Amino acid sequence: MSELMEVKIVKPKRSYRGVKWKTNVANKKRLVKDFNNRCAYCDDLDKHGGGYRNYHVEHFAPKDKFHELEYNYSNLLYSCQYCNISKSNKWIGSTANTSVIGDKGFLDPCGEQYYQHLKRNESGKIVPITKLGRYMYNELQLYLLRHELIYSIDKISLKIKMIKQIIEMKKQKGENTGPLEAFKSELSDAFFNYYDLLTDENR
Ligand SMILES: [Zn+2]
Repeated sequence: MSELMEVKIVKPKRSYRGVKWKTNVANKKRLVKDFNNRCAYCDDLDKHGGGYRNYHVEHFAPKDKFHELEYNYSNLLYSCQYCNISKSNKWIGSTANTSVIGDKGFLDPCGEQYYQHLKRNESGKIVPITKLGRYMYNELQLYLLRHELIYSIDKISLKIKMIKQIIEMKKQKGENTGPLEAFKSELSDAFFNYYDLLTDENR
């Protein structure tokens, strides 16, 4: 079996310490920065998943059960609609502090522990490596193909950006860019193949 990678390259931190907002419209503007435009759970970049407007303010301890935490920044996450809707108001504990009992429950992706239960394989698929990881994987529907597709789209678009920069540099020096142009067009084809698959998924 090949080596597993981290679910996220950059792990999110809630760094906002300013005014306490009474609306989640305001909180979302801080969350998007703290979560680097990525879903807290699956890491899908927002621009590939419907954009900022389609991303949700997710309540780690559900607001239906713990009203007092509705605007509490340390309970909030930036989330794609798929993870947010899958998690819904599921909660294992009787208090907001009990997020896990035995092998069931959720870990906050702002904590290191989350990453000890879920990893990613080289095709971008999220894989559970513990029983608790399996619980989160099932309950958050982290098995959805879209997460794998968005991971690949994200990775390919970064490569295309890098190659474009190298081509520009070579052009300025008057060097041959033919092989790189060919590679760029291969990557672009791959990008659109994944994008078509994602569009089919969304239907
Ligand atoms: Zn997500």
